[in-house]
Amino acid sequence: MILKSDAVVIGGGVTGASVTYHLASVGLTVICIEKNSPASGATGKSSAIIRMHHDNLPEMEMAFASLPYFQNWKDIVGVGDCDFRVTGCLRFVDPRDYEKLRSNVSLMKGLGVNTELICRNEINQIAPTFFTDDVEMAAWEPEAGYADPCGTTYGFLSAAEEKGAKLLCPAFVNGIRIERGRISGVETDKCFISTRIVVNAAGAFADKIADMCGFKLPVSPIRYQAGIFRRPLEVEVPHPTIIDRLSGQFYFRPDVTGHTLVGGIGARRVKDPENNNEITDPGYSKIATEMLSKRMPGMERAIFRGGRSGCDGISEDAYAIIDKISEVKGCYCAAGHSGHGFKIAPAVGLSMAELITEGRSSTIDISPFGLSRFKEVINPFDNPNRYDERGQ
Ligand SMILES: Cc1cc2nc3c(=O)[nH]c(=O)nc-3n(C[C@H](O)[C@H](O)[C@H](O)COP(=O)(O)OP(=O)(O)OC[C@H]3O[C@@H](n4cnc5c(N)ncnc54)[C@H](O)[C@@H]3O)c2cc1C
Repeated sequence: MILKSDAVVIGGGVTGASVTYHLASVGLTVICIEKNSPASGATGKSSAIIRMHHDNLPEMEMAFASLPYFQNWKDIVGVGDCDFRVTGCLRFVDPRDYEKLRSNVSLMKGLGVNTELICRNEINQIAPTFFTDDVEMAAWEPEAGYADPCGTTYGFLSAAEEKGAKLLCPAFVNGIRIERGRISGVETDKCFISTRIVVNAAGAFADKIADMCGFKLPVSPIRYQAGIFRRPLEVEVPHPTIIDRLSGQFYFRPDVTGHTLVGGIGARRVKDPENNNEITDPGYSKIATEMLSKRMPGMERAIFRGGRSGCDGISEDAYAIIDKISEVKGCYCAAGHSGHGFKIAPAVGLSMAELITEGRSSTIDISPFGLSRFKEVINPFDNPNRYDERGQ
């Protein structure tokens, strides 16, 4: 069987779904190919925290441009539900980084993000169950929260299908056809698709897809984990999301009533993302409980309700790659999200659609996410506001 479409998107995670939706929105015929089921990769395991606080302008901009989609899903996408829940988000950093925190908050305010630098008394009012003796100030984002990563993906894909896009699933991409330096088609175990545009949104497998194009993408697989805990009665009251770089490199956020999701612990590189066991490592609950109870005393008695793990792609500098592959005409890449790809997926889809149809992304400057940075002496993400550690 031979199909034909203007563009093929490889990967039915949140990135591929958003790219498919945005390409279909500007009138292209698109086929999105997924080997398992939509959101079965990193997306389905994601903690799906949506926050604007980053230590660089490009990521702040991408996250801020994505926020309205989550806030106004019905008006913008119109199909399905991303189930966005506002929790607010606190960012704790090492006191040595307070000046950086201050600068990043003012950069965000300059963009229009609703954020403040707050003192310990204010933190205590927002998060009465948190231990804060080691904190003088924090960044606070009242509009941050989290969403349903599967719902977000399904919503983008269903909206794309309403605009004429097709989801080919399950189907495995096993080859890319290139003629005279340009994409001419995609080979799958189900059919051949004749196309001149391919978007690599294959997450932890993005390097394999790039290999099919004869191109070495600086992305490799990494495994992240998250666990769910039932809070004991003493600390049952709601709490905000927190990115805590002070009592350990980790984060936690509220989940369903009385539950807290903990992540950012025990990330590790893997060789074979295909055979990930999808659960947390033995000992995860002990380490997470220790870290959690330092910040939220009482959580020593929390009940571990289970954990999950998923593989994402991490780039050489741990920032996303959103670019065209200049070596192969018609080939594009939206990968290497390095554990941060959910919150920016709407803007990634929009930027990719603009890049493909207009030759450049006009809404957001995506040039810092380009591949050329790996050849340049100065990386655009190296800046004086960068915190020491890049966690998940
Ligand atoms: C535990 C965990 C917690 C996280 N928490 C957050 C968070 O709080 N906030 C945040 O912003 N990000 C977070 N992330 C990161 C975020 O979830 C990912 O960056 C994002 O989901 C990546 O989406 P994707 O669509 O690019 O990749 P994926 O969701 O991995 O999708 C890629 C898809 O491509 C398919 N595919 C691959 N190869 C082929 C092939 N040959 N043929 C057909 N299909 C193929 C795969 O089956 C897969 O479904 C977290 C990730 C994990 C694992």
